[in-house]
Amino acid sequence: MTLRNIAILGSTGSIGTQTLDICAEYPTLLRPYLLTANRNVELLARQARQFKPQRVIIADESCYPALCRLLEGSEVEVAAGSKAITDAMSDPAIDTVVTAMVGYSGLEPTIAAARHGKVIALSNKETLVVAGELISALAKEHNAPIRPVDSEHSAIFQCLAGESHDSIDRLILTASGGPFRTLTKEQMQSVTKADALHHPNWNMGAKVTIDSASMMNKGFEIMEARWLFDIPADRIDVAVHPQSIVHSMVQFVDGSIKAQLGLPDMHLPIRYALGFPQRLKSDCRKMRISDYSSLTFDEPDPERFPMLRHAYDAIARGGNAPCALNAANEIAVAAFLEEKIRFVDIPDIVGRAVAAATFIERPTYEQLVATNTEVRQSALFLITKE
Ligand code: MG
Repeated sequence: MTLRNIAILGSTGSIGTQTLDICAEYPTLLRPYLLTANRNVELLARQARQFKPQRVIIADESCYPALCRLLEGSEVEVAAGSKAITDAMSDPAIDTVVTAMVGYSGLEPTIAAARHGKVIALSNKETLVVAGELISALAKEHNAPIRPVDSEHSAIFQCLAGESHDSIDRLILTASGGPFRTLTKEQMQSVTKADALHHPNWNMGAKVTIDSASMMNKGFEIMEARWLFDIPADRIDVAVHPQSIVHSMVQFVDGSIKAQLGLPDMHLPIRYALGFPQRLKSDCRKMRISDYSSLTFDEPDPERFPMLRHAYDAIARGGNAPCALNAANEIAVAAFLEEKIRFVDIPDIVGRAVAAATFIERPTYEQLVATNTEVRQSALFLITKE
């Protein structure tokens, strides 16, 4: 393997910082070439001084002067604005783009990366939720391979090595069940932001942690798997597996099942996505199988986790319904994190905002953008009216 130039979109977030850990582990193989962040100038500047990328870009233009000040005297090029991030995807020096930004904001640069035939290490699952059909088609057209960074999809990707598409019977996504797995519907009425942010196994950013607690995350992951592996959603199952050791499984047409196991640590799928097809040797803490004498698997409960039901409904409707679901969820989760609504209000607001959205069966990119704007506004309206 020769040196690869890596663009990390969202380098200051949880996946972004862990991707930089991996780059530091293999300095002769992986070079952080471009780093971008939304608003966190202090951390972005520290990363730039440590890793000396070619360029850094801050999405929020009001942060540009502060970033320039912090990087005065360094040789790193500094730019600002989301357009600059999208434009940077045409740089021929970039080999791999790690899409680690939060939510809908990942859509445009991911489309640009696909158009320029980059290897996409996909962490931003919302882009496939919103525009899976469009992105898969672009990636195919421009020979841009998509390597999953999400642990479940990395597991499936690893299980599929050497297998043909015809051999797949079902995909089985595992889910930890999140912090509220054992709570009754009544107990869930009074859970707090701190409770929801306390994930039992995984250390992740705030948005995905709340999505895990509501199981919206698993709904999104079904959609992500549908597009990554070209398997219809009715052949994708979810198994609640509280130990988070089996990261997902594939059942084949002969009845055999392959599973991928490992400690719940995002460095593993990041390492696999960046090293593929090679496995990169690591001194990381290795799992001892004897420490896990009991691994359990249960059916999920859409009664207690209505967001999972919303996801199945959106999949069944298709068109712009998943895009509407994502938009409503982003607004509702942000309102919950600002403590404007309760945890149990999220499904209600999302359900109403999605039901009110204009349905489009075969949306263009522009129509997806319009759906996103429309549903955000109606979800915001529902929240301020509460
Ligand atoms: Mg996941």
